[in-house]
Amino acid sequence: IIEVIDLTMAYGDHPVLHQVSVNVAKSEVIVMIGPSGSGKSTLLRCLNGLEKPQGGDIRIEGQSLMSPAVNMSVIRANIGMVFQQFNLFPHMNVIDNIMLAQVQVRKQSKDAARAKALELLKKVGLTDKVEHRPSSLSGGQAQRVAIARALAMEPSIMLFDEPTSALDPEMVGEVLTVMKQLARDGMTMVVVTHEMGFAREIGDRVLFMEQGVIIEEGMPRQLFDMPRHERTKAFLSKVL
Ligand code: ATP
Ligand code: MG
Repeated sequence: IIEVIDLTMAYGDHPVLHQVSVNVAKSEVIVMIGPSGSGKSTLLRCLNGLEKPQGGDIRIEGQSLMSPAVNMSVIRANIGMVFQQFNLFPHMNVIDNIMLAQVQVRKQSKDAARAKALELLKKVGLTDKVEHRPSSLSGGQAQRVAIARALAMEPSIMLFDEPTSALDPEMVGEVLTVMKQLARDGMTMVVVTHEMGFAREIGDRVLFMEQGVIIEEGMPRQLFDMPRHERTKAFLSKVL
């Protein structure tokens, strides 16, 4: 469902991704790990068209993002993204946050959007927060709303960039629980996280990235317990 082929990306003359290639199958859960500055966020941002790479290709369901004919807003609607910072609209209550794109982008009726939003709030366990403002939510609750908002577009792919890194430890679990359920429901997911427990339990493959290169990839057990590369070993010894 995602094909990344020899992707090269630089900010000005500062190279960030060097000929990165990776395929993601439908319903696969990919976990990306690696040191700060290795290009993990940049790769995610390329996948949903927030960055324009200089070389290589990205195909989403066979459609090249580099093609001049590509309709980026269609691609983006098909790819949900959740960030470390939840980026909820502070002046709107929870349900309006989730309904907004359905009404404005997908041109759905308010009734349909509301029904969908309520269904998603149930899924993320927040039916008691429908009319709350984002500022009254805990970090874990806000992140679950952000996930529900992304799901409201009915994307076929979800990208997560360190979704639990800004949370107090006791709230990490509730967000991971929602993500695990999503994975079990068959969502295709690319997740940047240092939550190794999540990676082991849910990840189909783990990619270790350093200095803009995928150094090693494998099944979680293989990569964590028997890393083949010295650099992977050195990184894991710091984070495990
Ligand atoms: P972290 O774990 O800290 O989030 P990361 O692996 O996500 O790191 P990126 O954010 O992709 O790394 O950054 C990769 C490199 O690109 C870094 O050297 C960073 O300084 C640089 N970079 C990222 N965004 C920009 C930008 N908008 N303009 C210029 N350089 C950038
Ligand atoms: Mg990052």
